[in-house]
Amino acid sequence: MYLVKSCRICGKKIRFPLDRGAIRVSCDCGYSFLADPDDRALYIDATIDLTPGPKEPRPSLREITDTLIQRIKSVKDKISVQCINPGNTKQIVIRRIYDAKYWIQNYRLHPDSEKRKVLIPFCVLLVLAVCLILSRLL
Ligand SMILES: [Zn+2]
Repeated sequence: MYLVKSCRICGKKIRFPLDRGAIRVSCDCGYSFLADPDDRALYIDATIDLTPGPKEPRPSLREITDTLIQRIKSVKDKISVQCINPGNTKQIVIRRIYDAKYWIQNYRLHPDSEKRKVLIPFCVLLVLAVCLILSRLL
């Protein structure tokens, strides 16, 4: 997906991809700016261009099935390892707690979409908890 914006200096239309994160976009006239897809201001006076970009060669059916089989095998291995060693559960729980701790510590660095996935359920739970406490008090 592309975004089309007019150059601030010469007014020429500049077209740039939105799926590559924050990139520096420059016009033929020399004007350049940082295009951050997470910045709402970027979409002001802009139009979205949905025409597909240069296409990558399509993977063959053989490549698709091979990657699919590999993924299934890796998931199967993970599941069997967890099932065989029930004593492993403690380590898995501890690892999950550490993962959550690191995730919270690095909260600022996560993309907005990932933050929303966690923040929205957390807010809903918070509101429910507040409602529950208030209903007990009244
Ligand atoms: Zn320009």
